[in-house]
Amino acid sequence: MSVVNAVLTPSYEADAVFEAVSKHFEVLNVEGDLRPGMRILLKPNLLYGKKPEAGVTTNPAILRAVIRWLTERGHTNIVVADSSGGLFTAEYMRGVYAASGLRTPGIEEYLNRDFTFGRRETREGSATRSFNLITPVLEAEYIINLPKLKTHAMTTVSIGVKNLFGTIPGLQKPDMHRRYPETKDFVRMLCELCETVHPNVTLLDAVDSMEGNGPGGGTVRHTGVTLCSRDVFALDIAAVLFMGLVPSDMPHLAAARDMKLLPETVSVTGDDLVPCSPAFRLPDALKSTGFDDSVPKLLRKPASFVMDRLLRSYPHVDRSKCVGCGRCAESCPQKIIRVENKKAGMPRRGCISCFCCQEMCPVHAISVKRGLRGL
Ligand code: SF4
Ligand code: SF4
Repeated sequence: MSVVNAVLTPSYEADAVFEAVSKHFEVLNVEGDLRPGMRILLKPNLLYGKKPEAGVTTNPAILRAVIRWLTERGHTNIVVADSSGGLFTAEYMRGVYAASGLRTPGIEEYLNRDFTFGRRETREGSATRSFNLITPVLEAEYIINLPKLKTHAMTTVSIGVKNLFGTIPGLQKPDMHRRYPETKDFVRMLCELCETVHPNVTLLDAVDSMEGNGPGGGTVRHTGVTLCSRDVFALDIAAVLFMGLVPSDMPHLAAARDMKLLPETVSVTGDDLVPCSPAFRLPDALKSTGFDDSVPKLLRKPASFVMDRLLRSYPHVDRSKCVGCGRCAESCPQKIIRVENKKAGMPRRGCISCFCCQEMCPVHAISVKRGLRGL
């Protein structure tokens, strides 16, 4: 049985968040894990530089509270590290840190300044033999995973497991999309990555979450809770139920079940975790066509296989909003996006519908449209 602790956390007010973090770590006896001088990695979600109120990144209040909790116990060998969507360089990450509110007292001195990476083998039998991981992950003796609760255009949700995709350096992430263009393969890779990084504790920022067109362009929804667990899969299950969604519908949890990574039971301790009503709105890219309801049950599987290939979702640029920054082109694994005259163009031919472009667009100029492949 895996335990997930819930603490109602009404706001990002410093004392309220510190109290929540203290309760979580006491229930899980995190202090019992830590040795003097241990190198501790805090892994937030820093998708890209965005002010905390936008709900895209892990709120700095969570990081500040975890750092305070650790330093009060004499643990100062701490590094806050993530590789955003985009480059993994000092200059790029400095901008992300600043925009996300991390270059502030209580956090700034712990921000990662090592932008190298190395390789770690996966366990035997994995489809991915090894992963390139950012050096702070390779050097960490203890990992506290600090995801943000969000919807996601490709993987449906971004919680604890998906947050670890940021351990892959910079523009090697689009490469992983290219290697695993189908969602079922991509999420299996995420599960293997999770096994390889193996966070010790995951603490979820669901004080303000994101629904709709997450992980970058959705709507902030105040949900007022933090969750914490030693088992990242258990935490994802509890968080999905909290969102009013069904765990077995989540591609990464279905893959984890097949890989026998899920706990037999999940016990939620602490405060009552009442599922959100209405449930979280899903990204446009995942909205049902309603087609399934109109065909006999027996034919649904083959019919939706064909329809999925005929009526896929594709990104569409609103040229009036596009500012020509080129971030979409930089993050596109297929390298099909061209920016000309300060406007991005996205052909459907070659597109694998990964929505990295939509994820990275800072002005939300990219929406989702359904259409025939290749047109
Ligand atoms: S155009 Fe967008 S959705 Fe299509 S492959 Fe490139 S990044 Fe992915
Ligand atoms: S679509 Fe968005 S990310 Fe792409 S160039 Fe335009 S503004 Fe930048």
